[in-house]
Amino acid sequence: MHIADLDVTTLERRRQEAFLLDISPRTEGGWWQLPLLTATGAEPGPTLVVLAGVHGDEYEGVEAIHRIAAKASPTDLRGTLLMVPVCNVAAYATATRNSPVDSLNLARVFPGSESGTLTQQIAHWLTVNLFSAADFLIDLHSAGVVGDIPTLAGYVHSNDSVGRRSLAAARFFGAPVLWGHPPPVPPGRTLSAALDLGVPCLYTEAPGAGRARPQDVDCFTRGVLNVMRHLDMLEEEPESSPPPLHLLGDGNMDEVMSAPAPGYFRARVELLEEVQAGQLVGTIHDPLGDSLAELHAEKDGIVIMRRGLHRVHSGDGLIHLTGRAEESYTATTPSIVKEQLTTGN
Ligand SMILES: [Zn+2]
Repeated sequence: MHIADLDVTTLERRRQEAFLLDISPRTEGGWWQLPLLTATGAEPGPTLVVLAGVHGDEYEGVEAIHRIAAKASPTDLRGTLLMVPVCNVAAYATATRNSPVDSLNLARVFPGSESGTLTQQIAHWLTVNLFSAADFLIDLHSAGVVGDIPTLAGYVHSNDSVGRRSLAAARFFGAPVLWGHPPPVPPGRTLSAALDLGVPCLYTEAPGAGRARPQDVDCFTRGVLNVMRHLDMLEEEPESSPPPLHLLGDGNMDEVMSAPAPGYFRARVELLEEVQAGQLVGTIHDPLGDSLAELHAEKDGIVIMRRGLHRVHSGDGLIHLTGRAEESYTATTPSIVKEQLTTGN
């Protein structure tokens, strides 16, 4: 089926379907195809959109979506579940973050362009057809081959209805770390496109490294199912989980402490370690082992990302620090959070 021929708002109820949608012709013949898994309950209700493989070297979400699809029986479901297990199909084919077809990062081109390159067309279709139909968006990422990030649920921390709904669902996702980002959201992201449409949303990260650790696949699978319970798409009450480590800060990984020289990077800090301004956080070495550069923390903070791939070029992102959310943000129930946010804490 061509992607233009599918209208997800008119899917037959009480059905589970799998589509491979022709999105753009390939140079060598045939089509680039976008996979889409849908499940509709007998009763209308919320529409949840779940994405994975926005970057082609992140696999936890792909497997989690396959598992969620296996559990999403139309008999038990209320509303509509729309899941794309691999969004950047060309990048997935080469196991790279960006597409080899147009060199673009899908997570930087939203809302995309109908007449653009393959990556821009994918972003456009997702925005116009899935995000605009969504009551909530979950975008499953991990650190991929290059980075190292703790398993977390991230959201945009804003004092409005969309922000509060994003935070409430991110809590129910149940990841060990909750990371809020004060607006503005940098452009081009899935979350920026969703928020432009007024759709609450969250994303995930995990250590990645080109693997899909079972504990992260489990976390993402349980997290999506629990958000579905929270949204009343499933009968059961949401499960509670231990209070997360709640962090707050800029989530823009394009602007982090970067390599002053090319070489072999050795991190001197662990993920989630608290560091002080001035502390040595990493070193760069030449092929003989001699030190070329030392990297010192520019501020106090908690290590939320460190480079996992040791070979670095000048300017590559190495370390990112973030802050701890104030006590007032760490309340366990969304109603308390709502009250605190509206009083301006
Ligand atoms: Zn990613």
